Amino acid sequence: ASPALSRIGLAGLAVMGQNLALNIAEKGFPISVYNRTTSKVDETVDRAHNEGNLPLFGQYNPRDFVLSIQRPRSVIILVKAGAPVDQTIAALADHLEPGDAIIDGGNEWYENTERRIREVSDRGILYLGMGVSGGEEGARNGPSLMPGGSHQAYLNVQDILHKVAAQVEDGACVTYIGEGGSGNFVKMVHNGIEYGDMQLISEAYDVLKNIGGLSNSELSEIFAEWNRGELESFLIEITADIFRVKDEHGDGELVDKILDKTGMKGTGKWTVQQAAELSVAAPTIAASLDCRYLSGLKEERESADKALREAGLKEEVGSAKIGVDKRRLIDDVRQALYASKICSYAQGMNLLRAKSIEKGWNLDLGELARIWKGGCIIRAVFLDRIKKAYRRNPNLASLFVDPEFAKEMVQRQAAWRRVVGLAISAGISTPGMCASLSYFDTYRRSRLPANLVQAQRDLFGAHTYERIDRPGLFHTEWTKLA
Ligand code: NAP
Repeated sequence: ASPALSRIGLAGLAVMGQNLALNIAEKGFPISVYNRTTSKVDETVDRAHNEGNLPLFGQYNPRDFVLSIQRPRSVIILVKAGAPVDQTIAALADHLEPGDAIIDGGNEWYENTERRIREVSDRGILYLGMGVSGGEEGARNGPSLMPGGSHQAYLNVQDILHKVAAQVEDGACVTYIGEGGSGNFVKMVHNGIEYGDMQLISEAYDVLKNIGGLSNSELSEIFAEWNRGELESFLIEITADIFRVKDEHGDGELVDKILDKTGMKGTGKWTVQQAAELSVAAPTIAASLDCRYLSGLKEERESADKALREAGLKEEVGSAKIGVDKRRLIDDVRQALYASKICSYAQGMNLLRAKSIEKGWNLDLGELARIWKGGCIIRAVFLDRIKKAYRRNPNLASLFVDPEFAKEMVQRQAAWRRVVGLAISAGISTPGMCASLSYFDTYRRSRLPANLVQAQRDLFGAHTYERIDRPGLFHTEWTKLA
């Protein structure tokens, strides 16, 4: 039977909404649900019944939906980002009252959230933009939640979010992120980091398969072994599983039958655009985005392969069996992957810090690492070490100058350089690992060839330069002196 009123409501019952609503109901919070296409309401009500008579109540129009929730109301929206969110807000807002709150759980562009915060505030409605990570499984059993916006709106649902989120040993994977669109921004960077992780793992696979000659079953074993060490993470775990799955339509494993063209929905691109806007170097994340673009050019890549072979490119280039020791290669790749990953996280964290300063969000980077330890796609044991690094020093200039990470980088750099060098000479592209290594080397060198670039700029554009031995700005008539 329906209670007098539900504690919370959720509109948008596709994959994410349906599962999050069931999760909330399972934690004992009566919830009203609504979807534009009402067959999904029935579907969700059926699931709630079958999954343990959960306190979930279907509503078939926006008015009944809103009025079935206790005040001050909290309504989660989980529809396609962009215009559908505005349309859903428009449908609900007429029935909402001052003090009620809207919580958008989609992968929304943070500026849309900031606009909506202003728009609904005219009617006294509170607003949260809440990043939700963990896909279908996370939404059902415990996602990582990144709510930002109205602090009061957060406090109204804090107890629910803490029960619904993934649980790790140091608490629930949720925290109030900050004002404005900070929750969406943090989720966006999380996704950018996810792009980097996936790219780096795919490069490790490429090197092990095409240089090391590992079979899918060996790859599965190696990734499973890595998942018991410092690389332990969701993405490494699922990678081990993927290599084991047989193709139902033919011989061998399914992974080999999948077309090598990567899809994407935009959060990686936004991350790279924001990095450029804020003058923050994020080359590993950018390399992973570029690789997705290049992967999309399947036909062009096939023509290029043909043209270059005709021009004399040798077959061995891509499959050099340069007498590598397999055990050592595997161990080197593990270390290269770990070091590359630290660089990628350093870039993501520095992007978050730059935005936090620009917007006055006061982001707590250690706390962000903590809420990513469970529920989300990038969940990994090593996030606990990142948390501790930022707790030791919240103003850490870069993750890898933290004393512990610095030690690990130094220990791994020989292996890392061997892998990248080997891949380059074999013609196996490793853009993510190369970008990470170049980032590391560029960042750690106290003197770069930027002096020459300054000289060139001054020669052709009189842009002036500074000197290392005296203060001031200088200009030289280079051509007269040359
Ligand atoms: P989705 O496929 O992005 O969106 C489908 C939902 O949006 C349906 O409920 C649909 O209603 C509704 N919708 C679309 N246009 C609408 C409109 N104009 N007015 C009202 N409703 C409209 O669903 P999803 O995959 O569950 O994702 C929801 C949000 O979570 C997205 O922002 C997504 O990026 C984010 N997210 C997804 C994942 C994931 O793994 N899927 C993970 C994290 C975050 P109808 O049924 O009536 O068409």
